[in-house]
Amino acid sequence: MSDLYTQVVNSPPGRMIAGRVGLPQPAKLERHETGAAEIAGAVLAGGAPGGRLAKPVERLLGDLGAPPPAKSDSPVKALVFDATGIADSTELVELQRFFHPNVKRVQRSGRVVVLGTPPAGLPARAATAQRALEGFTRSLGKEVGKGIAVQLVYVAAGAEEELDSTLRFLLSPRSAYVSGQVIEVGKPVAKAEELNWTRPLEGKLALVTGASRGIGEAIATTLHRDGAQLVLLDVPALSEDLKAVAERLHAETIELDITDAGAPKQIADAIPGGVDVIVHNAGVTRDRTIAKMPEDRWSSLMEINLSSEERINDELLGRKLLRPNGRIVCVSSMSGIAGNSGQTNYATSKAGVIGMVEALAPELAKRGATINAVAPGFIETQMTAKMPIAIREAGRRMNSMSQGGLPVDVAETIAWFASPASAGVNGNVVRVCGQSLLGA
Ligand code: NAP
Repeated sequence: MSDLYTQVVNSPPGRMIAGRVGLPQPAKLERHETGAAEIAGAVLAGGAPGGRLAKPVERLLGDLGAPPPAKSDSPVKALVFDATGIADSTELVELQRFFHPNVKRVQRSGRVVVLGTPPAGLPARAATAQRALEGFTRSLGKEVGKGIAVQLVYVAAGAEEELDSTLRFLLSPRSAYVSGQVIEVGKPVAKAEELNWTRPLEGKLALVTGASRGIGEAIATTLHRDGAQLVLLDVPALSEDLKAVAERLHAETIELDITDAGAPKQIADAIPGGVDVIVHNAGVTRDRTIAKMPEDRWSSLMEINLSSEERINDELLGRKLLRPNGRIVCVSSMSGIAGNSGQTNYATSKAGVIGMVEALAPELAKRGATINAVAPGFIETQMTAKMPIAIREAGRRMNSMSQGGLPVDVAETIAWFASPASAGVNGNVVRVCGQSLLGA
């Protein structure tokens, strides 16, 4: 759906008027285009003394062909700061020393990434200082404007060489609508695979539920672009739509209701050789306040959004159908983090999805696989197009990007989780919400 306000405000007269009267000024976000550079500009890398990530960052920037800035004051597309050397709160001033003179150099749709060490398990002083980084990046994301995204990535000791897929994603236009996030990269769950970065899912099979339209269709299209073979699932009522998507993407289809008692077995039977990536995307809303919520409305939603996913996971994992270095990616929601009036059922189910990710991550790691979730905020789909205009406009503007995201933004984040190179990314919940003002 078109966002007329963003179009008007990005015209020269619109920009002038919005600036004068203090209206939000959403920047036109750059998004990935096939064949384009992952990062179109210079990257300034810095760090606090004693950090351990300068070398892997330098190597990756070299691989990406991202040069350092030509001059000490020339524009940059991204800033990367290694804060792993900060072991005491008195050393947090290194953030000020690096960002104060450089932050204004970051161009439109630019990127800022701060790298730290997960606080858990560190001595108290170091843990305190590392935890403090969250406040810095979340605030910076709200200050910078111009469609610039800011993230904190905690890299566990020993996982220094696992940073590539995450840093590539966060520095590229693929992460256009992801900001203010805290991501953990740990030791890999499986051995590194030979990788073609333009088609990382070549030779992999991915199952996507709810794939006939909206976010599911975008996920299927993006995984196909990355080289995956697809099995696309949706309800029989959407057979025509599903077939059209499948034909375009040369995919197999499964038509069923995931809440049917026999659905997990039917899905498992349809992929006898196993699957590399499972994306649990199918989901519904059935909004009512709890005082007006009949049990069937509560239960039918919980079945679709949560319980059926658990049963499908149990069946596929029980029959060992998730292949080595496999991925489960779930679609939660900002409502599952922040809560939302009229959505007790939906938010319960989506918080449950986060619980499932957290509970299964250690078990999947033992099997050499990962599970992660995206939590979309306001995404421009048929669902959000039907909202009353006041709620829709509030949803679009109440985030650091002052606009709604696109289905492809969710899909790109899922593609990063799904990549064989993301073997160190497990148990994460990443919001695709333009750093919504609601929730953390
Ligand atoms: P959508 O356009 O309604 O697509 C969801 C798909 O899942 C539909 O094709 C739907 O078919 C299918 N589905 C529903 N129940 C099913 C069942 N029992 N078995 C198999 N398939 C079923 O929704 P969307 O906006 O793309 O959302 C996709 C996911 O993102 C959902 O999990 C949603 O909760 C989440 N999300 C969306 C937003 C947003 O802003 N759009 C924000 C946060 C989270 P039906 O026609 O039967 O419903």
